[in-house]
Order: sequence, then structure tokens, then C-alpha cells
Amino acid sequence: MHDLVIRNACPWGTGAAAKMDIAMDGGRVAAVAVTIAGRGREEWDAGGRLLLPGLVEPHLHLDKACLADVLGGAVDLVDARTRFARLRPALTPRDLVQRGRRVIEWAIRHGVAALRTHADVDRIVGLRHVEAALELKEMFADRVAVQVVAFQPASVPLDDEASWRMLEDALGRGCDAVGGTTGSRGPEASALMTRMLELAVRVGSMVDLHVDETLDPAVQNLPELARLTRRFGLQGRVTASHCCSLSVTPAAARAETIRLIAEAQIHVIALPLTNLYLQGRDSGLRGVAPVAELLAGEVNVACGSDNVQDPFLPVGNADPLLAAQVLGLAGQLADSRYLLESVSSRAAAAMGISVSPDWCTAGAAASFSVADCGPADDPVACLPPRPLVVFNGRVVRKPGDGTHDLPPIRTH
Ligand SMILES: [Zn+2]
Repeated sequence: MHDLVIRNACPWGTGAAAKMDIAMDGGRVAAVAVTIAGRGREEWDAGGRLLLPGLVEPHLHLDKACLADVLGGAVDLVDARTRFARLRPALTPRDLVQRGRRVIEWAIRHGVAALRTHADVDRIVGLRHVEAALELKEMFADRVAVQVVAFQPASVPLDDEASWRMLEDALGRGCDAVGGTTGSRGPEASALMTRMLELAVRVGSMVDLHVDETLDPAVQNLPELARLTRRFGLQGRVTASHCCSLSVTPAAARAETIRLIAEAQIHVIALPLTNLYLQGRDSGLRGVAPVAELLAGEVNVACGSDNVQDPFLPVGNADPLLAAQVLGLAGQLADSRYLLESVSSRAAAAMGISVSPDWCTAGAAASFSVADCGPADDPVACLPPRPLVVFNGRVVRKPGDGTHDLPPIRTH
């Protein structure tokens, strides 16, 4: 008797439209076959629908989410930060947990198996945002794997030692990565990155920086980040999110920067939704990292949502497939296989989660969703509902689970 069996599902990306049975035991795939004779304590028939790998959301600010109704949508990044800054001192632990919980539940309904959230740390909010994020990580541990980035906002002066101590304290409490932002730091950016990487080495954490979230071509911190990553021996453990100014760097310099970040094994996370909304208001430039060139240079490029219905981005629903679809539009990418990988295996790699390329095979982690579409449909193109979601071999959303706390719609 297996823990769980999904029957008649068509695994994505296998090139075959054959309906397969998938049996799961102890959180892992036990067997995949056209017919599995053994029964499951719980069984679902996917009816020939598409089976997706567990989706991964590598960049989400839960502490800012769902504040658009209070703060409105901003006109640029500085305005968004200013709007959020007005409210930060008043955000309570209860409010932070409630809004975070709402968005994580949306993510689970979209088939997200792992997500990384950034939590602000400075002397204004102290460790409140981190504590809320760690509470959410614990609360959802049996439904989605949450990573927390202890994130120093751009407003913290480099010599604010109290804020640095709080950042280290946050990492000691269980945050997975340290983060900050380079774009508005000017000549201090190198010193900031050095301190961040030193701290990561000292506490054994990963690094996830907002790098050059600007269209000022003079702001070019990626070569220095690549140098520091190699100096500190952090290859494969550093993520550069945004990388907007790389899109307006002259071609020769851009190629050299891409070579350096590939050599340092820095992961890049493109965040098309927020960049399209906030960047380039005056210039008309769109501000999304040059994904095709990065991929050609063998850089791992993943995709994230960044913001959900807040001043930085008044839309969004924590569906990685939506972010992937917009990445395809903004980056003029037609490769739907890559786009789905950008919100699954590639995002997992950026988060340090090892995933087998054979995600639907015996021994693999059993985190999937059944999409309400056929095996020939492109999930990035059609954004199908995902009525059945499995996390580590356990059903966490099943058909009939409402998306709102409302009664079912009936005929009269
Ligand atoms: Zn961000």
C-alpha cells in the first residue's frame, strides 16, 4: 500500500503524452509506470491532465505584499520605497503574518513547492519582519518550503553598526540568506557587498542581493560582485536579483560582465513584473535583465514575482507561471521549456535546493501539481488552474478546495 497514487497524469517535459501512474511513499516518488498495480491509501485520477514539477518562487517580498489598496501604486522605485517607508513603523507582527499567510496560500494553490521571501531588517522595524517570516516558514513547513532572506533596505547607512548587528542576529535565528541592495549605493556598493559576503562566510549562509535595480548605465556592480564571490569562495551560493542596468550596458562590456558572473557561478533572478512597472518611466526602456544573452553565456537565470499587489507592483498573484509568461514577453523568449524551468529547476538551483533533472522518477522529491490542461498544452501560455497540489508526497490542495472563503456557485 503506497501513501499516495496519482493515476493517468502526463508528466511535463517528458516528450510523451502517455498517461502514467505515480506512486509516492515517505515524501518521495516510489514508482512511475503506465499502470501501478499496488493501491494507495489516497488515490487521485488526473484524467490525462498535465503533471507539473513543483514550482519555485525565488524572490518575493511578503512583508510588502497586499498594501496597494493602502499605499497605491508608485511611479518609480524611489517613490515605492518612500510610500512603504511611511507605513513600516506601524506594521505589526500580526499584520505581517496575516498578509504573508494570504500570499503563501495563493502560491500553494498555484503549485509552489518552495519560495524565498525577503524580510526587512533595520533599526526601524528591528527583527519584526524576520520573526514574522520565520513564523510563516514554521506554519507552512508541511505545505511549502520557505526560505527567508535577512534583507537590509537601501536606506540603511553603511556605518549603521546597530543594523548590521541585527542582520547577523537575524541570520542566527534561522534566515537562509543575507541580502541588501547595491543600485543606489554609489561608490559604497563595493564595501556593502564585501560586508555582505564576509557575513555570509562567517555564518554559513547564502547571499541574495538586489543588484543594480536601475537603468543608469553607470551603475555596474556585477563585475565587482563576481570578483568578491570568487575571493570569498562563494561560487554557486550568490544570487544577483534584478540586474536591470546590465540591459543598457554597451555590448562588449555586457559580454565581459556575463563572462565574469558565469565564471563566479552567480545565479541571476530576473524580475520582469516589477521591473516593467517601475523602470524606464522617462526613457521608455524596460529594465529586464538580458536573459537570452545570460543564458547563452551559461549563467543560471531564474524568474521571480518580486512583489504582489503593493506600491512596487499593484498587480500579481504569486503565480510563478504568470511571472514566467511575462518574462517570455519582456525578454522576447519563445522557449516555453526554459520559461517553465526558470520557475522550477533553475529557481531551485538558485536557492541551493538540489533537484534531479528527472523530476518525475523513482527517488525524486514528490512535489507536483496537476494542471487543468492537456499534455499538448503549454502551461506558460495558458496559465491553467492547478486543482491538485502535492508537497513532499502529501496532497495540500485538492479539487473542490475553494480559492475564496465563499460558498460554491450553484444553479438556480
Ligand atoms: Zn525584490
